[in-house]
Amino acid sequence: PAEKFDVIVVGAGPAGNSCAYTLAKRGLKVLQIERGEYPGSKNVQGAIMYANMLEKIIPDFRDDAPLERHLIEQRLWYMDDSSYTGVHYRSDDFNEEAPNRYTIIRAQFDKWFSKKVQEAGALLILETTVTDLCFSGGKVIGVKTDRAGGTILADVVVMAEGVNGVLGTKAGLRPRPKPDTVALAVKEMHFLPSDVIESRFNISGDEGVVIEAAGTITRGMAGTGFLYTNKESISIGIGCLVSDFAHTGLAPYELLETFKKHPAVAPLIAGAEVKEYAAHLIPEGGYNAVPQLFGDGWLIVGDAGQFVNAVHREGSNLAMTTGRIAAEAIFQIKSRKDKFSAENLSIYQKMLESSFVMKDLKKYKRLPDFMHGARDRLFGSYPELVSKAAQNWFRVDGKDKKSKEKEILRSFVKARGVRGLASDAWKLARSWR
Ligand code: FAD
Repeated sequence: PAEKFDVIVVGAGPAGNSCAYTLAKRGLKVLQIERGEYPGSKNVQGAIMYANMLEKIIPDFRDDAPLERHLIEQRLWYMDDSSYTGVHYRSDDFNEEAPNRYTIIRAQFDKWFSKKVQEAGALLILETTVTDLCFSGGKVIGVKTDRAGGTILADVVVMAEGVNGVLGTKAGLRPRPKPDTVALAVKEMHFLPSDVIESRFNISGDEGVVIEAAGTITRGMAGTGFLYTNKESISIGIGCLVSDFAHTGLAPYELLETFKKHPAVAPLIAGAEVKEYAAHLIPEGGYNAVPQLFGDGWLIVGDAGQFVNAVHREGSNLAMTTGRIAAEAIFQIKSRKDKFSAENLSIYQKMLESSFVMKDLKKYKRLPDFMHGARDRLFGSYPELVSKAAQNWFRVDGKDKKSKEKEILRSFVKARGVRGLASDAWKLARSWR
């Protein structure tokens, strides 16, 4: 008879690795299948990694994980074509013994994580694509792959196949993500000596800076840009909803080229050597786009479940957390020698509901619709108005300050009307609750 596993995990990204690691550590017989030639070869991230969520899985990860820089400064830029209006937060408190956020390079990080998974006892098969889920009486009982051989059996299959995964969709278990719920992001790695990066960003040692940007850089489409410091490189990228790209006909690389030439960005990457270019989807539909997450013999974790908090640029941590929680749910059922029925696996959903994952997605559930509906203003006229207002305010030109205030107010009212402004403010406040 074919070999049977307790659990098959499809995918070796942060969600799959967290799930497989947690299960293998608890003694379950785990098979993990990854289509890439090595874990991370198919994966793209900015990338900021959030320590707290990894600590819950591998507490001593700092001993040997490939980490780039720990973040001490966050810059949020609202940009028009020649300026940005920004909020910067920098604190020496972030220079703590166990820093909270790091930049990483996914190809290295995923390889490291996968090694831990294998050391914990899971069996990993690479360069193998899971082509189908296998059912018996409506229950998932295993998978088929593109390799010779029949079905591989397991009590439960965890789909950690990422946003592009077609497995769940093919089996009719999760809908194909709609174009207005996924962003297409492009990213480049610009290499510079570490001392150049440190002087340009006013940092030293392993300190790092994050820049998150929005505004006219996405030409009225709903999206954001980013710039992250690694040890000897800078990751720079930009992304927008796929539906917006389809609507405008603009290409992602055109946005990236313009973003790189922005007068506030160009000096930061000047003289760098571009060595890598990548494109990937990001699920950004939020709470309302989360599909059914469990059923008879199956669970969905990570990007495949639309677990991304687009406002806070968090994805890998939700992937790790959903992977870990799925493993804990499976372990509970296994420990009491119970069946992996939909009813029993629904505990996964309940555990997610009481975690930050669902609470955060729920908090922002109205935001994707608001951002989309107001995209011509949020990523078009408003950043220009904000920039003009700031410039008017800061220019010392003999004009009295009361008149400046009136001019600024008038410019906003002229552009959108009092009711329009009030409506946008109300909708923003409501979608932020
Ligand atoms: P993935 O990392 O996509 O892993 C899925 C894996 O499954 C892949 O290895 C794939 O090869 C494999 N697979 C798929 N189908 C099959 C199959 N049928 N058979 C076998 N293997 C299969 N998140 C952050 O937290 N911080 C950031 O700074 C950040 N920046 C980002 C920037 C960009 C440009 C992008 C695109 C994303 C960013 N994210 C960020 C999001 C983050 O990358 C994802 O949330 C995270 O990678 C999701 O992990 P995952 O394990 O669910 O999926």
